[in-house]
Amino acid sequence: MITMVEMELNIINMYPDILNMYGDIGNLICIKQRAMWRGIKVNIQEITLSNETTKIDENTDMVLIGGGSDNGQTVVANNLLKQKQSVENYIENNGVLLAICGSYQMFGQTYIDGDGNNIPCSEIFDIETISQKERLIGDIVLKSNINLSKHHDLDTIIGFENHGGRTYHKYDKLGTVEAGFGNNGKDEEEGMIYNNFIGSYLHGPLLPKNPHLADYMILKALQNKYEIDSLEQLNDEIEINAHKSRVNTILTK
Ligand code: GLN
Repeated sequence: MITMVEMELNIINMYPDILNMYGDIGNLICIKQRAMWRGIKVNIQEITLSNETTKIDENTDMVLIGGGSDNGQTVVANNLLKQKQSVENYIENNGVLLAICGSYQMFGQTYIDGDGNNIPCSEIFDIETISQKERLIGDIVLKSNINLSKHHDLDTIIGFENHGGRTYHKYDKLGTVEAGFGNNGKDEEEGMIYNNFIGSYLHGPLLPKNPHLADYMILKALQNKYEIDSLEQLNDEIEINAHKSRVNTILTK
C-alpha cells in the first residue's frame, strides 16, 4: 500500500496577483501546509497576468481561484473561456476546484455588474449573478451541506463575505446560511457543489478557518489517483477552538 509520503498533489493557483481579496492566498498556504505536515509532496503552478501558459489538464489535482474586483474577474473569465473544454473535463472527472466570490460568479452564464453592464462569463454552469448597489457584507456561518465529519466533528463552515452580486442556481449548495447572507440574501443558500467543484462567497480566508473543509478537498484530490479512504489526523485543537468560538460569537451577535 502506498504511504502518504509517496503521494503528490499538483495544484494550480490562478491569478494570485489579482484575485487575492481578504487574503484568499491563505487557501493555498493552508492546503500546502496541511499536505506537507503529512509528508505529501506539493507541486504548485501559478497562472498570473505575466505568465498565463499553465493549463488545467489531466495532471492537475487541485485548482484554487480567489475573489477580486470586476476587472480581475474578467481576466479569469477570459482564461477559463480559452480552456473551457479542459476545465469542463476536469470538473466532470471529479477534479477538485475552489472558486471564491468573483471567480465563483465567473463560472456562470451571466454576471451583471452594479452599473448594469453584462460582464462575459465562462458559461460553464447555469449560474446567474446580478449585482445590486447595496453590498452583502459581514461574517457568515453555514451549516455544511457536505459531510465533513470524517475530518472533524464539525458541521459548520465560517467566513467573511462582501459582494454586490446576488447569485442564483439550482445545483447543490455548499451550506445553509445560519447567519449572514450567502448566495443572494434571500433563499438561505450559500455556494455551490458539483462533483468536486466548490463555489463560495466565503473569504476569510476560507480554508484556514475551516480545516475540515481543507482536508475534505485534499482527500478528494488524492482519491482521484490513490487508493485511500482517510487522511492522517493532525492536531487541530487550536484551529477547532478558534472555529467554534467564532461560530458562537457570530450566532449570538
Ligand atoms: N463581483 C464581486 C461582487 O459581487 C466581487 C466581490 C469579491 O470577489 N469579493 O461584488
